[in-house]
Amino acid sequence: MRKKIVAGNWKMNLDYASGISLFSEIVNMVRDEKKGDQIAIICSPYIHLNSLAKLGGEVVKIGAQNCHQNDSGAFTGEISAGMIKSVGCEYVIIGHSERRQYFAESNELLAEKTIKVLENELTPIFCIGETLEERNGNIYFEVLKAQLEQGVFGLSTADFSKIVIAYEPVWAIGTGLTASSEQAQEVHAFIRNEIANKYTAEVAENTTILYGGSCNPKNAAELFAQKDIDGGLIGGASLKSRDFVDIVKAFN
Ligand code: PGA
Repeated sequence: MRKKIVAGNWKMNLDYASGISLFSEIVNMVRDEKKGDQIAIICSPYIHLNSLAKLGGEVVKIGAQNCHQNDSGAFTGEISAGMIKSVGCEYVIIGHSERRQYFAESNELLAEKTIKVLENELTPIFCIGETLEERNGNIYFEVLKAQLEQGVFGLSTADFSKIVIAYEPVWAIGTGLTASSEQAQEVHAFIRNEIANKYTAEVAENTTILYGGSCNPKNAAELFAQKDIDGGLIGGASLKSRDFVDIVKAFN
């Protein structure tokens, strides 16, 4: 079944004490505001995960922002999906554009990470999105299609049915430039259609597709009202409890 999700992505922000304090505020506010069928998630830096899962995992789910594609071994500085699972996390963001851009993560590598996340019974939030050049060059549908084909369309129907997709146009991330609700809906409908072509109409209908990129309390309601937009992946606005909770409330 399609879910209504608002997921915060804290990125590399907040020291330990600030993270705990912001998360506690968010949990207290979300407890009162969230409707029954909605899911609120915070994807924090690794060092917060264990504590956050214990503090509020019932009300606000916890996610990591990345993981390694191997189970264990000599990979200094890395964290595995199994480790993430072991502290009570339920979600992992895979293929955020900052990982693709600054850490050269390819679709092939992201496909491996996605499989690892699923093997550990975590839910991948798989990100795709075009750059401004690709949008202006009118090749964004091809770019998004390739990201889907190489990143997640190798999954079995059963596995694909467990993942969440996030459409995040790179030009809208952290720039204050949001895709208009028409632009976002156009792409979400395209993604759903590609899923229907690859799998079935039923799988497509049941896939949760989030929008991300300068989503805020002012534009969230209009974005979430679009027929193929099932929620948001929220960067900057997830660092303020009031803004994050107002976005959670934006579902009608
Ligand atoms: P933003 O980031 O909301 O700050 O634009 C979104 C994201 O990168 O997930």
